Amino acid sequence: MNTKQFSSGEETLAIRTETQRSIYAEHSTPLYLTSSFIFEDSEEMRASFAEENDRNIYSRFSNPNTTEFIHKMIQLEQAEDGVAFSTGMAAIYTTFAALLSTGDHIVSASSIFGSSHTLFTKYFPKWGIETTYFNMNEPETIEDKIRASTKILFVETPSNPGVDIIDLELLSGIAQKHGLLLIVDNSFATPVVQKPILFGADLVLHSATKLIDGQGRVLGGVTVGRKNLIREIYLFARNTGSSLSPFNAWILSKSLETLSLRVEKHAQNALEIALFLEKHPEVAAVKYPFLHSHPQYKTAKKQMRWGGNIIALEIKGGKDAGKQFIDRIRLCSLSANLGDTRTIVTHPASSTHSKLNSAELQAANLTEGLIRISVGLETVKDIIHDLDQALTVHI
Ligand SMILES: *Cc1c(COP(=O)(O)O)cnc(C)c1O
Repeated sequence: MNTKQFSSGEETLAIRTETQRSIYAEHSTPLYLTSSFIFEDSEEMRASFAEENDRNIYSRFSNPNTTEFIHKMIQLEQAEDGVAFSTGMAAIYTTFAALLSTGDHIVSASSIFGSSHTLFTKYFPKWGIETTYFNMNEPETIEDKIRASTKILFVETPSNPGVDIIDLELLSGIAQKHGLLLIVDNSFATPVVQKPILFGADLVLHSATKLIDGQGRVLGGVTVGRKNLIREIYLFARNTGSSLSPFNAWILSKSLETLSLRVEKHAQNALEIALFLEKHPEVAAVKYPFLHSHPQYKTAKKQMRWGGNIIALEIKGGKDAGKQFIDRIRLCSLSANLGDTRTIVTHPASSTHSKLNSAELQAANLTEGLIRISVGLETVKDIIHDLDQALTVHI
């Protein structure tokens, strides 16, 4: 991997970390759509399989496009090593499956991505791996949930869809004291906003589908962190087949060239919108990490460089008002994705979480009037105009 030695700025690293040029002297990294690679002779083949040289063998193991994407992510997260995956869920499943055995235990925040919750609650018990959940807003309860068999402490901050924040330094202190691995899903923040490794995380994983692609095109995932752990995860991944496709890796590596620019603009738009919503008469409450009113504002300021692009909004009038708001939206999209150039609004109580009753919603830190906004890159006054007209009650 060629990264010019004089470079240290993040934007430079994301742009100038490049696969070695081919004989055609191309400026932009080409797409290496090949399932396998060829060898000069039997000795080169033997040495490659013995891992005595750094060579591509087969694209399930490695590929130049995938390697370039991983190297950029390692540098942006300040990690030692990394592995790329077909999706964010493949990153989460493979990372946990590689590191855990029957009888092991996970302590996880309860407000995590829905499929991660399903994985821990429904599938891992099949292999004798149990999970105990804690409330993000009650970190003092975490240590009580740790058992002799606990191996992993898992968290997402900011959380989805409530935009709660938890202190990463506090978590890494707990993990160290009890000999646990701290794993952080950093999809909502991206390394531009937050680098969990600097606060003591052992592994950081991402759904690259979200802000890393940032344009709603491809799926991908990545796990970065300590070299010895990544080695275990890599070997498990290359034998179980959750590899990132070279095409998606090429898109994602290109996307990283503009990540910093995009995420900063997403966050500037989100802060402006959050400030607008805070004053709106139809709004009961707004949660955004960089609003002074956020309960964990101090922690957010300590560990995040920007507030991210997700706003949680409580509108007056509960579930019905939430549904009406969604139906009046004109510019923004009603979609399950987030971290896109296009602003997306969702109403969990009438969509993703519609099967939950009021008590269950409460247990999940959700309310009936909660709206999640994934702020995009449209002209900010156009987004504000759309939200304003959808909030205004037309009689
Ligand atoms: C979307 C998401 C995932 C899952 O990623 P996929 O790429 O959809 O598999 C995991 N964690 C978080 C926080 C997400 O938002």
